[in-house]
Amino acid sequence: MSDYKTGLDFAKKLDQNDPLKTYRDKFLIPKDKDGNEMIYLCGNSLGLQPKTTKSYIDQELKDWANLGVEGHTDAKNPWLPYHEFLTENMAKVVGAKPIEVVTMNTLTANLHFMMVSFYKPTSKRYKIVIEADAFPSDKYAVESQLRHHGFDDKAGLILWKPREGEELYHYEDLESIVEQHSDEIALIMIGNTNYYTGQFFDMKRITQLGHKHGCMVGFDCAHGAGNVQLNLHDSGADFAIWCTYKYLNSGPGSLAGAFVHERHAHDKSLNRFTGWWSHNKQTRFNMRHEFDVLPGAEGWQLSNPPILSLAAIRASLDIFAEVGMEVLTEKSRKITGYFEFLLKQLGEDTIRIITPENPKERGCQLSIQVKNADKNLHKKLTEAGVISDWREPDVIRCAPVPLYNSYQDVYKTVEKLKELV
Ligand SMILES: *Cc1c(COP(=O)(O)O)cnc(C)c1O
Repeated sequence: MSDYKTGLDFAKKLDQNDPLKTYRDKFLIPKDKDGNEMIYLCGNSLGLQPKTTKSYIDQELKDWANLGVEGHTDAKNPWLPYHEFLTENMAKVVGAKPIEVVTMNTLTANLHFMMVSFYKPTSKRYKIVIEADAFPSDKYAVESQLRHHGFDDKAGLILWKPREGEELYHYEDLESIVEQHSDEIALIMIGNTNYYTGQFFDMKRITQLGHKHGCMVGFDCAHGAGNVQLNLHDSGADFAIWCTYKYLNSGPGSLAGAFVHERHAHDKSLNRFTGWWSHNKQTRFNMRHEFDVLPGAEGWQLSNPPILSLAAIRASLDIFAEVGMEVLTEKSRKITGYFEFLLKQLGEDTIRIITPENPKERGCQLSIQVKNADKNLHKKLTEAGVISDWREPDVIRCAPVPLYNSYQDVYKTVEKLKELV
């Protein structure tokens, strides 16, 4: 978009016209030693706390204090079905049907549980494709699944790599990998928004490719959920997983999400790890019944979940439901485009943005490579009041989050960068 302008006045004008301007005040913004608000561009790592989170958690603490075990049925928000209160809003955030979504466990745990069902290797078809620069936890998880099934974790892993001297991935390269190893690949598991470059992949395209060649396809949406329109149902992916503490603002280590496509919802023959929470709700407490699995994503639950974490997620999802992903991603494109515009004023020989330029191929994160920079630059930026994230060897990741970041946050960040480089 070329209708951006430089200067503080323009940033102020964008803030005035921002349909989400009242939402910043719904969050607790970290402050420096002198009590000044920091510029927080790390929502891709740990989202900020909504002011309402405390009251949602307090309600459950109160009911626990007053009711003890009776809270399972008599709490204002009964704990037995508590996770169900999140389902509809979570499904909207990720573009899924309610039967396809559940909030449970943590991200890497969910990845394993999904692979128990959707990684079904045979002696011939056992390989897993992931992107070369996958988030370490994902890589460790798929390697350990290979070993668990008795395969060599080097021979069994196929890496989709960026081309020599590039950071971004080309679909054509994935296509030739899958065609070349067509009858050897059991699973394609990709981080749908790459944590390092911010590149957002076309999940439908990857899923169609995989399915055409008889592979299962799953996505790690840790950097996608609450950031981009995922349209998980339409993508056709077999499964997806994500955490809620990044763009979903639900607190450190909070519970994660899982998606299982509707086509698998009633398939009782799928192998899975189970517990009493995967069992039919009507007969769950009769205890001595034959196992009867729940339909849909809920049938992958094991345990009764931590209510305090679910309460924090519920507080956040209520904000997302009020705003809607449509409005949120519209601001996201605008504020990220503005950030990109200002950064480009610094000159291409000073900084390089490795995130795709096409707004359809990214969310709000920009990964910025600063020429001749080291970690010292990141330290100075932090001292100047900007919280961002450093990735070796030379990349600063900044995410202007549409719910709580302002255009002036972005303006001031670039002004501070200008002073430092
Ligand atoms: C943040 C993140 C994780 C973290 O995994 P946890 O199980 O929540 O600790 C894993 N994978 C990706 C792609 C991530 O971005």
